[in-house]
Amino acid sequence: MSDKNLTPMLAQYHRIKNDYQDALVLYRLGDFYEMFYEDAYKGAKDLNIALTKKKVGKDKYIPMCGIPYHAADSYISRLVAKGHKVAICEQLEDASKAKGIVKRDVIRVITPGTFFENEKMKSALSSVFPAGKDYGVSYLDLSTGEFFASVMDEENLISFIGKFQPKEILIPENRKFSFIKENFKNTFLTYLPEDYFDEESIKELLSFFNTVHESSFGFTEKEKSALHASAAILKYSRITQKSFLPFIATPRPYRGDIYIRLDYSAQKHLELVSANEGNIPLLRVIDRTLTGMGRRRLKFFILHPLKDVQLIKKRQEAVEELYQNSTVREKIREILNEIFDVERLISKISSGTMSPRDMVALKHSLKEIQNLKKLETSINSDFLKDLFSKIEDFHWLADKMEKTLEDNPPVHLKEGGLIKKGVDPILDELKEIKEKGNEWIKEYQEQQREKTGIQSLKVGFNKVMGYYIEITKPNLKFVPEHYRRRQTLSNAERFTTEELQRFEEKILSADEKIKALEYEIFMKLREEVAFISDRIAKTAQQVGILDAIQSLSTIAVEKGWVKPEISDNYSIEIKEGVHPVIAETVPDFVPNDLKMDEKSFFHIITGPNMAGKSTYIRQSAIIILLAQTGSFIPAKKGKIGVVDGIFTRIGSGDILSKGLSTFMVEMLEVSNILNNITGRSFIVLDEVGRGTSTYDGLSIAWAISEYISKKIRAKTLFATHYHELTKLEEEIRGVKNFHMHIYEDGENIKFLYKVMEGFSNKSYGVHVAKLAGIKEEIIKRAYEILYHLEEEQEKKIDETIINISQKKEDYLPLFKELQEEPAEKEYIQIIREIENIDLASMTPIEAMVFLNEIKNRIKKSSEY
Ligand code: ADP
Ligand code: MG
Repeated sequence: MSDKNLTPMLAQYHRIKNDYQDALVLYRLGDFYEMFYEDAYKGAKDLNIALTKKKVGKDKYIPMCGIPYHAADSYISRLVAKGHKVAICEQLEDASKAKGIVKRDVIRVITPGTFFENEKMKSALSSVFPAGKDYGVSYLDLSTGEFFASVMDEENLISFIGKFQPKEILIPENRKFSFIKENFKNTFLTYLPEDYFDEESIKELLSFFNTVHESSFGFTEKEKSALHASAAILKYSRITQKSFLPFIATPRPYRGDIYIRLDYSAQKHLELVSANEGNIPLLRVIDRTLTGMGRRRLKFFILHPLKDVQLIKKRQEAVEELYQNSTVREKIREILNEIFDVERLISKISSGTMSPRDMVALKHSLKEIQNLKKLETSINSDFLKDLFSKIEDFHWLADKMEKTLEDNPPVHLKEGGLIKKGVDPILDELKEIKEKGNEWIKEYQEQQREKTGIQSLKVGFNKVMGYYIEITKPNLKFVPEHYRRRQTLSNAERFTTEELQRFEEKILSADEKIKALEYEIFMKLREEVAFISDRIAKTAQQVGILDAIQSLSTIAVEKGWVKPEISDNYSIEIKEGVHPVIAETVPDFVPNDLKMDEKSFFHIITGPNMAGKSTYIRQSAIIILLAQTGSFIPAKKGKIGVVDGIFTRIGSGDILSKGLSTFMVEMLEVSNILNNITGRSFIVLDEVGRGTSTYDGLSIAWAISEYISKKIRAKTLFATHYHELTKLEEEIRGVKNFHMHIYEDGENIKFLYKVMEGFSNKSYGVHVAKLAGIKEEIIKRAYEILYHLEEEQEKKIDETIINISQKKEDYLPLFKELQEEPAEKEYIQIIREIENIDLASMTPIEAMVFLNEIKNRIKKSSEY
C-alpha cells in the first residue's frame, strides 16, 4: 500500500509498525491504545475483548481493538504473559497544539523478560552464545539490576536456566539450541541478529559501564563468549527500554565452580524452590526472611550450595552467631522488617517508573539501614563483620529526602503535594498565594451572602467548571444582575462573576506552577538517587545476605536444628534426620539415620509402595544440601563430608501412560548423570527403570548400579522395588542393602517408616488389598496368581542377569541394544494391562485365561 492511499494517521501507523514487526503495536489515540490489522486479531483473542472496525476512508474499514489508557497496565501484563512483545506508541505532543497529525513514536517495548516493574511477572532475561562445545551465557534481571555471565557446558546451562528461570532467552538468529526449547517449554525465545553479539556490541557494553578494557569486569580470556552474551543482553535492553532503562549493575562473572553441581532434575525432584501441585517447596517452609532482597538471596543459597569447606564454615559461623545471640538477632529482625525492597526501588527510581511513595519507601529504608549499621559493634564473626563493613551509611541522603519529601505524598507525580515547606522559597510563596486564596474564598462567600441576602449561597469548585457560586432554586429571584449563569442543576443554578474569574486565573496559575515546580524538585532528588544507585544497590545486596543468614538462624532456633560438622572427609553421617517439608504435615514423622563411608556408600533401599523410601532418600539429599549452604540441619547430629554435586533420577513411571519410549527417556537422563558424576558426588536414584518392562528396567538398574558402585564410587541412595538388585551386595564392595521396616502381625501389616539394614523380599500388595476389605476367596486366588506371575518374571530376570553379567565392561552399548529390542512395546503393553486388571471383579477362571493369554504373548514377542 503506498502512502498516498492512506489517511495520514494510517501512513504514520504503517511507518511505525514497520520497525516493530515482531511486536503488538499499541497505538495511542486519545484515551485509548489501539491495535490494528493482525495485531487487533491477536490482541482481541488473547485479551478476550471485542474486535471492532476503524473507518479509514469512504467505505474502507480496518480491524481494530482497543484498551483504555488508564487500565493499560493490566492488559499489557496479560499480553506479555502470553508471550507477546508490546510496543508502546505514544503521542509525543499535545494533541490540541499539534499542527497536522500528532507526532507519535514507540517509547518502549515491553517483552516477557523486560517487564521489570511488574511484581508478579518476575521477568528476567538470559542470552546464550555458542563457544565451541560450550556456551557463553548471561543473565540480567532488570527489576533488581543484577547482571552476571559465565561459560558452561550444556548440562550446566540447563541447570543454570533452571535455577534462574529467565522469562525470555536471547539467541543468535542462525542458531537453534533446541535443547533449551525442550527443557523450558514456557520460556520465550527471542532470535536476534548476529550483530547484537558482535565485537562492536561488546565495545558498547564497555562504554556503557565507562570502562575501556574487558578485563575490568573480571572475565578471563576463556570467558570471552560470556561477554558476547552480555553485550547482546545489554543492547537488547537498551533498544527495547529506551529512556525507561533501569539501573543495571556492572556485569560480573558467575563462577559456577565454587558451587556444587545441582542438576535441573535435582532442583525439581527435591522440590527446592518450586513444587509439584499440592506440595510445598522447601524454600517456602524454611523462609524466615523479611525483605525482598533476603528472599532472593535465600533462594540463591538453596540453589547454590558451596563446595569449599572454609567458605561453608564461614557462613555457618555467621548463622551460629545469630542463632546464639538472640538479642542481636531480634534487633536485626526488627529493623529488617522495616526495610523495603531497596533493589527493586532503585530499579524503579532509575527507570523513572517510580511513584512518589517509592521514594518515601526508599527514604524510610535508608534510615533503617543506618540503624542496622549501628549494630556493627555487637557483631563478632568474620563473615558478619565483613558484611557490615560493606553496608554504607546513607544518612545524608535520607536526611535530605526527609527534609524535602512530604511524609505521605499522593500516588501520582504530577499532582503536587510532594514537597515540604522550606525547601524552595518560590514554591513556598506560590503555596501561600494558594492558601490565602482559600481564605479569600471564605470571605468572598460571606460578602456575597450579605450583599444578596441569600444565606444558602455557596462558593464551590470543581475541575470542569472551576469556581462557581451556587444558588438554590427558591432564591433565584434575588440573584444580582452582574452574575453570569453557567450551569443549571435540578434544584440549583451556578453562576460566576468577573471578580471570581479573575481570582480563579490567579489561583489556577499558581497551582499549575506549584505542580510543575514540585515535579522539578522531585526529579532533581531522583537524579541524585539514580546517580549513586550502584552504591545503594551494593548495600542492599549486603542487607539481603544478612536477611538470608538471620532467616537460617531463625528457622534453626524455631525447629531445633543442629549445626553439622563440615569436613573434606568422604563419609557422611546423619543421626535422626527428618524431611523438613514432609515433617511439617505428618505429625509423627519418624526420623532416620544415614551413614556412608568407603565401606558402605551405595545403599539399595527396598520396601513396598508407600513405605517411605522416596521420602528418606530425598530428605538425605536435602540435609546434605542445607549443610553445604551453611545452614543448620533437621537432625540430631550431622557430620558432612562435602559433596561436589547432587544428582537425582526418578523412574519415569508416569510417562508410561503417555506412550513415549520411556526406556529411551530414562537412558538419556541416566547417561547424562554418568557423564557428570565423580566419586565425591551424591546420587539419588528413585525407582529408576520403572518406566519400562521388568526385563528392560532391571537391566538398566543393574547396569547403572554396577557402573556407579564399581567405577565411580559415588555415594548413592537407590530406592527400588527390584529385589533382585539386593544381590549386588554380595558382588560389590561398598554396596549395602537396606529396607523399610514393616511390622507384621499375622496377616496385618503396619508401616513403621524406619530404615533397617538388610533386605526384605516380601511383596505386600495383596496385603493392602486385604486391608481394603476384598473378599477372602479373591485374596486367596490373587496369591496364587501372584505366585505364577512372579515365577514368569523370575525366568525373564534370570535371563537378563546372565545377559548383563556377560557384558560387564561396556555399559552404554548394552543400553543401546536393549533400546532397540522390538519386544519392548509389547512388554509395556502387557505390564499396563496387568496394572489395570481389576482382581476383585474377576472370576478365578477369567484370571487363568488372562494369565494364559499373557504367557502366549510374551512367548510370541520374544521370538522376534
Ligand atoms: P515410597 O517411596 O516408599 O512409596 P513415600 O516416601 O512416597 O513412600 O512415602 C509415602 C508416605 O508415607 C508419605 O507421603 C508420608 O505421608 C509417609 N511417610 C514417609 N516417610 C515417613 C516417615 N519417616 N515418618 C512418617 N511418615 C512417613
Ligand atoms: Mg517412592
